[in-house]
Amino acid sequence: MKYIVVTGGVISGLGKGITTSSLGKILQARGLKVTAIKIDPYLNYDAGTMNPYQHGEVFVLDDGGEVDLDLGNYERFLDTNLTSDHNITTGKVYLTVIERERKGEYLGSTVQIIPHITEEIKRRIKKIAMQTMADVVLIEVGGTVGDIESMPFLEAMRQLRMEEGERNVFFVHTTLVPVVSVVGEQKTKPTQHSVKELRSLGIQPDMIVGRSREPLSEETRRKISLFCDVPYEAVISAPDARSIYEVPLIFEEQGVGEYILGKMQIRGRTPRWKEWKKYLDRLFNPRDEITIAIVGKYVHLKDSYISHKESFTHVASFLRLKINLKWIDSEDLEDEGTKLLDGVDGILIPGGFGPRGTEGKVMAAQYARENGIPFLGVCFGFQLATIEFARHVLGYEDANSTELARTEYPVIDLLPEQRGVDKLGGTMRLGAQKIIIEKGSMAHSIYGTTEIYERHRHRYEVNPDYIEEFEKHGLHFSGRDESGIRMEIFELKGHPFFMGSQFHPEFKSRPLKPSPLHLALAKAALEYKKRS
Ligand code: GLN
Repeated sequence: MKYIVVTGGVISGLGKGITTSSLGKILQARGLKVTAIKIDPYLNYDAGTMNPYQHGEVFVLDDGGEVDLDLGNYERFLDTNLTSDHNITTGKVYLTVIERERKGEYLGSTVQIIPHITEEIKRRIKKIAMQTMADVVLIEVGGTVGDIESMPFLEAMRQLRMEEGERNVFFVHTTLVPVVSVVGEQKTKPTQHSVKELRSLGIQPDMIVGRSREPLSEETRRKISLFCDVPYEAVISAPDARSIYEVPLIFEEQGVGEYILGKMQIRGRTPRWKEWKKYLDRLFNPRDEITIAIVGKYVHLKDSYISHKESFTHVASFLRLKINLKWIDSEDLEDEGTKLLDGVDGILIPGGFGPRGTEGKVMAAQYARENGIPFLGVCFGFQLATIEFARHVLGYEDANSTELARTEYPVIDLLPEQRGVDKLGGTMRLGAQKIIIEKGSMAHSIYGTTEIYERHRHRYEVNPDYIEEFEKHGLHFSGRDESGIRMEIFELKGHPFFMGSQFHPEFKSRPLKPSPLHLALAKAALEYKKRS
């Protein structure tokens, strides 16, 4: 088994996830089977209960795992489906160890961070290596070297190298190389310090990836090489890229693939980049342009909606279209009105929770519906568009979701199986679920099939008591679960494109397989633009 461990120094947000994904892509291009694990040193069991404002979007996997958004990057770059076990947190590790202690499995011994916690960390990693039968397992250690939280994980990685042997465990350290003065000199001191910190934990990096605006100068690379004791060829530049999907090629040009394969004694075929290059070529050479508004509550942190953003990037390449995303805070819509939507060619309302800002989203849905503007509502967006329709077309003035208010017309209501649920962690309707699409519907022409699996994360749904009424007035539910009582997709009759999905199509979008609903929205937006 071979492992590549990616650590980070100096600051967070260096794009370790992109580095990890790109290294994986480089190996994959050589015909190797790779998988990736994200370690999150926080105490939460998973990302499900975390506010998107702190950690960005909660990504959802097929198996219902609510995980760190980096797993979304791995899935998109590597075009693979991961499981919850690929996100290891302090919470998961400690819970297992403490439960084991309570069962008496460590009877007689003092349970300690070393060896018990570190053993559990390695056990989880090796289990994935075994299950996936990957040639190489990439492990990204979240946080920054020196954090108290990441200590047990780095210690486990040090042990892993000792146990598996030098050739089988390769350490990549990502750091920041800032330019402070107007003179433009790249500063290597932060890198030197963070490598020193890493070495004090017994880890000598095999490769250093320096994030900077411009490529690292030869002098900078030499300095880093000398002071950090890493060969010159293993000091890699990670300058700002036009697209994250370009990073694997930027690394490839610097010989990263050959270097790693050589050091780890892995054999791979000559790398194949044809499809990937074509993908980028289409992305960088658009023939037309549209603007899509994303109306949400967490728009000030773009990572909150990263999967939507990426879905539109995939669509952009597919259609050779420049897609400008206009991020609109739904509370601003409430204050300033729909003039904020002037000039947009399409509107998307993403998922969300809780009452704040919902009226602004309802306004956006109404504006799209009444003005023939292409619209896609996802999850909460699907629910709010349904509410809007109930209020203004069915005439149920105070129609609402029971999540948001007391109402005489609870058109969105708790899923029946949620009634007894009192714990918040991991208890929503989660993960991939089967959806049956009606033959001949718009959804059918978009997906090209009548049976799909898409990922979910919700507690509420369209109240079945109102379906007939909705249908009678043209809000047609063309996608349902197998029982037929759970609404999954709507499409509005007589509107060029007004759709919603209870599921999240953005989680399964891949560079070469864009989300069908985002694609359909963009196509409709382009037509709308040409018409108007
Ligand atoms: N808050 C809504 C629900 O729980 C929507 C959830 C979401 O958008 N992910 O059903």
